Amino acid sequence: MSEHTHSAHDPNCIFCKIVAKQIPSKAVYEDEHVYAFHDINPWAPVHFLLIPKTHIPSMAHVGAEHGALMGHMMALVPKLALQEGCNPYPEGGYRLVTNTGVEGGQEVHHLHFHVMGGPRPWLRG
Ligand code: ADP
Repeated sequence: MSEHTHSAHDPNCIFCKIVAKQIPSKAVYEDEHVYAFHDINPWAPVHFLLIPKTHIPSMAHVGAEHGALMGHMMALVPKLALQEGCNPYPEGGYRLVTNTGVEGGQEVHHLHFHVMGGPRPWLRG
């Protein structure tokens, strides 16, 4: 993976502060490139966030140079979803959501993938 996948840090970013352990969080998974932690305001019985450690502001900033990092993150999703208690496909499952930009409902401008699942009736729409 290229060097810039784990170098950028924005001192004003809440998720960069979580990566740096300056703000506490409940870890789900961590390695050199990514961090996953429980959402503080869960919408579902299972709701965690998977983020790159580097400060990529949003999905709108992702390009071909992030291919290895994105592949790494997507391969982690099914593994972490089951680990955290989502039921297996196809009766079980989860939603994978990335809000992008203000019109996309993004509030924290550090790229993150929401993984939301667990028994119904949490699911709306
Ligand atoms: P939205 O809040 O509309 O879902 P985002 O897609 O930007 O917008 O999601 C930000 C997510 O980060 C929210 O689900 C929110 O609950 C979560 N969050 C904010 N601060 C923290 C924190 N300190 N620890 C864990 N999760 C957090």
